[in-house]
Amino acid sequence: MRTDPRHRSASTSPLTRVRNLGILAHVDAGKTTVTERILYLTGATHKRGEVHDGTTVTDFDPQERDRGITIFAAAVSCDWDGHRINLIDTPGHVDFADEVERSLRVLDGAVAVFDAVAGVEPQSEAVWRQADRHAVPRIAFVNKLDRAGADLDQAVRSIRERLRTVPLVVQLPVGQEDGFTGVVDLLRMRSLIWTAGRDTYEQGPVPDDLLTEAARRRRLLEEAVAELHPEALEEFCERSALSERTLTGALRDLTRSGEGVVVLCGSAYRNCGIEPLLEAVVAYLPSPPDVPPVRGSRDGARQERPADPQAPFAGLVFKVNSTATGRLTYVRVYSGTLRKGDTVLDVGAGRSERIGRILRVQADRHAEVDRAEAGDIVAVIGPKAARSGATLSTPDAPLLLEPPTAAAPVVTVA
Ligand code: GDP
Repeated sequence: MRTDPRHRSASTSPLTRVRNLGILAHVDAGKTTVTERILYLTGATHKRGEVHDGTTVTDFDPQERDRGITIFAAAVSCDWDGHRINLIDTPGHVDFADEVERSLRVLDGAVAVFDAVAGVEPQSEAVWRQADRHAVPRIAFVNKLDRAGADLDQAVRSIRERLRTVPLVVQLPVGQEDGFTGVVDLLRMRSLIWTAGRDTYEQGPVPDDLLTEAARRRRLLEEAVAELHPEALEEFCERSALSERTLTGALRDLTRSGEGVVVLCGSAYRNCGIEPLLEAVVAYLPSPPDVPPVRGSRDGARQERPADPQAPFAGLVFKVNSTATGRLTYVRVYSGTLRKGDTVLDVGAGRSERIGRILRVQADRHAEVDRAEAGDIVAVIGPKAARSGATLSTPDAPLLLEPPTAAAPVVTVA
């Protein structure tokens, strides 16, 4: 999987500050907890939800709470470091593969969460393959490092062997199992230590007892990157080392091309490792203009639509949800601008739909906005019949978006 090199360069529009992100995991790996911690940290929620209390924010359907698994995908917006992160919740349970499939269609990147004891599990492997078919760039988060039996190296080996990808490990854990307190950031060669019960971490030098191991791991990372990335190889040959800048740029390229996967670690439960995860999301995963333009057909001819607010509007419905607020139609806007009051065409059905209200969904709250631009994910109220999978388009330039590349059969795991 290689992207066109044109898509590697970032443009300067504010769209580059959007990340449409999914969190993929085997059930129980910690997807809900990671999501909760992200929402808490970014201020979208003001208290931490706990899965075992049934108070989590993303799982707001009562049936989901009862079953403790995320059945229906929900899109949640939050802000981090000047970036808007639209978090598209994807079900981890393999019975809901269709929902995963639909969510994957509208993501630009994903975090795959693994359990540090179990490593790659069958469902994480199945979802990984689905994400491969959609060419969704990913980073990996090895969670639950505080658990007895947690083993980052073993988890990384299973990522390499079972997912057949090149793991690029950018952190070294500080402490083990119950004594796990933080990580060494191998890019900046510094430690980040979380104090129990506090939400911030202390930055410091690499602890003395980890100096040799951190240097060894940094070297391994540089070698792995140089092997895959021509510019990094050149610098490595010249200087026998890689600068932080080259390493960051190369990791971004390798993530976006799918040639490697950046691996971070932590304990979502202890709120440990979430900030570096968000930094990695912003640094490595693509924004809407970084991914290839969406394709569709117009009067039988194939067309591409750029992620440009000035282009004709085209969007995809990826979920419809009946709530107390009304019938929420979740739309990924691929091109153009969707405005409150617009009449759009459900191209497949040949039916007009009116956009009454546009909502930015923040878990269980909604903020009303006047418009949504290319790259954005919003919920709209007004459409009466548009179904999940429907293309909405401006009536004077109707474009029927192509079905997902993943028309391929869904993997069944024994
Ligand atoms: P999901 O099914 O992937 O959404 O997983 P959840 O977030 O619901 O987590 C499953 C269980 O693992 C819950 O009981 C969590 O409290 C627990 N859990 C999540 N993250 C961690 C972690 O970092 N460490 C430990 N020890 N437990 C965790």
